Amino acid sequence: MKVLLIYPNIRGMNMLPPAIALFSSILKEQGHTVSLFDATDYPNIEDNEFNSDKLKEKNLNVRPFDDTLLKITFKEDDLFESYKKHVEGISPDLIAMSTTEDMFPIGIRLLELSSVYKIPTLVGGVFATFAPELVISRPEVDMVCVGEGEHVIKELCARMDKAMPYDDIPGLWTKKKGEIRRNPMGQAVDMNENPMLDLSIFPEGRLYRPMQGRVWRMFPLETHRGCPYQCTYCNSPSQTYKYREETGSRFFRKKRLDKIRQEIIHFRDNYNAEAFYFWADTFFAYSEAEFDAFVEMYSDFKIPFWCQTRPETVTHRRVKKLSEVGMFRMAFGIEHGNEEFRKRVIHRSVKNETIIKALATVNDVGVPFSVNNILGFPFETRELTFDTIELNRHIYADSMNAYSFSPFHGTPLRKIAEEQGYIKPGTIARSVTRPTLLNMPQYTPEQIEGVRRCFVIYTKLPKSMWPEVEKAEKLTPEGDAIWEKLRDEVAEKYMPHNAEEKITD
Ligand code: SF4
Repeated sequence: MKVLLIYPNIRGMNMLPPAIALFSSILKEQGHTVSLFDATDYPNIEDNEFNSDKLKEKNLNVRPFDDTLLKITFKEDDLFESYKKHVEGISPDLIAMSTTEDMFPIGIRLLELSSVYKIPTLVGGVFATFAPELVISRPEVDMVCVGEGEHVIKELCARMDKAMPYDDIPGLWTKKKGEIRRNPMGQAVDMNENPMLDLSIFPEGRLYRPMQGRVWRMFPLETHRGCPYQCTYCNSPSQTYKYREETGSRFFRKKRLDKIRQEIIHFRDNYNAEAFYFWADTFFAYSEAEFDAFVEMYSDFKIPFWCQTRPETVTHRRVKKLSEVGMFRMAFGIEHGNEEFRKRVIHRSVKNETIIKALATVNDVGVPFSVNNILGFPFETRELTFDTIELNRHIYADSMNAYSFSPFHGTPLRKIAEEQGYIKPGTIARSVTRPTLLNMPQYTPEQIEGVRRCFVIYTKLPKSMWPEVEKAEKLTPEGDAIWEKLRDEVAEKYMPHNAEEKITD
């Protein structure tokens, strides 16, 4: 089989997708030929000016960085022309696309273009899992993978190769003459059985990632899959629920340490890894014994790494031990600063005091970290966002992200947003770095975007300057000019940020 994998990513989103690298490896092991069409290196067709990383830099969410290495494989050719040539050049037997919701519109335009060749198409990923009806309703889509794709793609290619029927594969939805067959999902996969990731299909520039003001040869190292928490804006708890209800299996899994060790060696020896980002929703979701075993294993490598976890999982001991074996940066979700709202609407029950203390502990150890915040949740008001700003003023983070809430399919808040009439059913959610899609009477899209661009400025400047910052929230030429002036002032003073610096009030 000749399989074309498509990754309809947007320029400036630099995460390497482990799923694509894994599918390539699985398929090659079975003797198939794999080709990749990765849209990341092409100009963004929706908005050529949009570059997620550069936008974060502009909004003071990340330090300025030199992106020369990221650009070495950038192409200025037309995305669609290149895709067409790619498909014609290899004449694949199957086109398989892995996509998140925000990438789906680009992906579907690619599939539309190649539909003239009548090549079977498969779409999978988190969006296909939670909106399979919407995905399979598209005429360009022949099959949908619901749930994890490792077994599905392997079995599908094996059967197609032997010209055997494949419409009964667990997790696969098929469409024949307009009739859809919806097979129930298979069990959650055993991650330990997966082969090593195949990064050779990616162009060189995709192997780099900006972090902490520099660009690293940095790879995803999956340690956990799933998450034990229940946040209502996130897909992870919905996966847990779906797998439990439909298959009786556990979605939250931890990879065996010997397997992780093999992967580290694979990345180090075959791809010259300079650093890792641990692919785990909540890295500290280890018991004490598991944690200690991990640290002992990793101390043989001490390759710099980044990880993310929840503030309430932090202990001085854990942060210290990890910093001794290479942890150079962390990320934490704060998400909202009002305790009652955070508990009631987004199901995160933690005290502000706990968050502040936990993150001060990370400061004590001396590990820089970023914090993530979301604004524009259903029912939120501008006033409530200021509780988030207030909380961030008590946290000495190396960088702060403020994203607009994005109503991804499969999350409980998506359903609520539709019920409240904040978004029309069927609307495709977009990246959290884009302006909000919710139309809420109490907090308009313009207000949300205005506060979002001033978020870091509010956290850094004394409150006596807030009336001036408020003017910068206005999305008008006058507001833009004030915003740029304040932005430059704050950038000069705080980026790169000094964790010792104290906020003045
Ligand atoms: S802690 Fe993170 S990954 Fe886990 S449910 Fe909440 S947002 Fe999702």
